[in-house]
Amino acid sequence: MATTVDLPEGAAAAFSLELSQDQRDVRDWVHGFAKNVVRPAASEWDEREQTPWPVIQEAAKIGLYGFEGLAQFHADPSGLTMAIANEELFWGDAGIGMAIMGTSLAVASIFGSGTPEQMGEWIPQCFGTPDEPQVAAFCVSEPDAGSDVSALRTTARYDEAKDEWVLNGQKAWATNGGIANVHVIVATVDRELGSRGQAAFIVPPGTRGLTQGTKVKKHGLRASHTADVFLDDCRIPGRCLLGGREKLAARLARAREGGRSKSQAAMQTFEVTRPTVGAQAIGIARAAYEYALDYAKERTQFGRAIIENQSIAFTLADMKMEVDCARLLVWRASWMGRTGQPFTAAEGSMSKLKAGEVAVWVTERAIQILGGNGYTREFPVERWHRDAKIYTIFEGTSEIQRLVIARAISGLQIP
Ligand SMILES: Cc1cc2nc3c(=O)[nH]c(=O)nc-3n(C[C@H](O)[C@H](O)[C@H](O)COP(=O)(O)OP(=O)(O)OC[C@H]3O[C@@H](n4cnc5c(N)ncnc54)[C@H](O)[C@@H]3O)c2cc1C
Repeated sequence: MATTVDLPEGAAAAFSLELSQDQRDVRDWVHGFAKNVVRPAASEWDEREQTPWPVIQEAAKIGLYGFEGLAQFHADPSGLTMAIANEELFWGDAGIGMAIMGTSLAVASIFGSGTPEQMGEWIPQCFGTPDEPQVAAFCVSEPDAGSDVSALRTTARYDEAKDEWVLNGQKAWATNGGIANVHVIVATVDRELGSRGQAAFIVPPGTRGLTQGTKVKKHGLRASHTADVFLDDCRIPGRCLLGGREKLAARLARAREGGRSKSQAAMQTFEVTRPTVGAQAIGIARAAYEYALDYAKERTQFGRAIIENQSIAFTLADMKMEVDCARLLVWRASWMGRTGQPFTAAEGSMSKLKAGEVAVWVTERAIQILGGNGYTREFPVERWHRDAKIYTIFEGTSEIQRLVIARAISGLQIP
């Protein structure tokens, strides 16, 4: 039986998973920072439960934290470099990783919805300078609107006389909430339209009426600051509506006429951003797998290394396979997003769902392989397990990802 087919000349090279030199360079550069700076600091900042400003500053000094770094990752036409950089950084530590990458959520929203003037004005202020780095926050969730973002209660009212927007409401769980230089707030301008009546607003540094609520004490990602944000008659200049008033008016008019759903467009945006979140989860999973593999070769019981028991060796084989499987889904979705492929089966959500669940499973198995040591804070795997769990919750819970995939593959509005 023939095992090959005749392909047009050059066609065999059309598909390759071999990384380019640029991709390998970024991978090695970020890995070096993760290994030499992030990982040694991880336990300390996890225990302190504080934003690791000195590490952010070091990242800013080498260009890893800042718009240029992010733009460099984004520039890769294959889409893979963003995923590769996130995997490496979060391999070092997810709490510090999120302290460094949390700002990119706000930046992505300004980049995605803002005018060129808004990008020029606000993105640099999200990052600050290498000597005085700043962070930014992207605030959507509210106490009564988590998975159901159409239920947002925070309002934005336009005061025409003063050309100001007035924001009122409470945001929950905001990464960098209250300590950010720039807050991007998603608020409703017309509640009857649900998520189609919402818009994003910049709250400039030092604006009165925005205050931080209680800082959340968390299970994991403890070096990343999470807090509620209160908006109490918070007045911002008219130019702080992302995209501008004309665009909003057109969008609202379309929504009232029942035109193409805003939420459909938003779903496509999520499909593009979710693989990056998945890549972070893979970084954690890979760290745990590598650690457990080394440990299993070293640790002896009953006169032999524990890896010489099939149950341990097979578990490690499955861990490696699951990590690689999740990475392939993340790379596929990253490539689809960057090259504008339609996400007909919600492949972005699929990649984040798989990666999050793999991270939880692999880190739990790693604890098991380390035995009692795995359960103590003397070893990093318990921290990785705590960190991994958030990846089945934020940026869309696993249930919501399944809902999105089920709707995409069935074409039905499954409730
Ligand atoms: C550390 C951390 C950082 C965060 N950072 C940010 C941030 O920067 N900005 C921001 O806006 N938000 C942020 N969040 C909020 C996060 O996005 C929400 O927690 C998440 O969307 C889930 O919402 P919820 O917690 O209200 O859970 P709920 O929506 O109340 O869900 C509870 C459970 O019900 C399930 N469920 C809900 N609806 C359905 C359904 N239709 N079908 C099946 N199951 C369902 C969920 O899957 C989940 O298991 C952060 C949260 C955490 C913990």
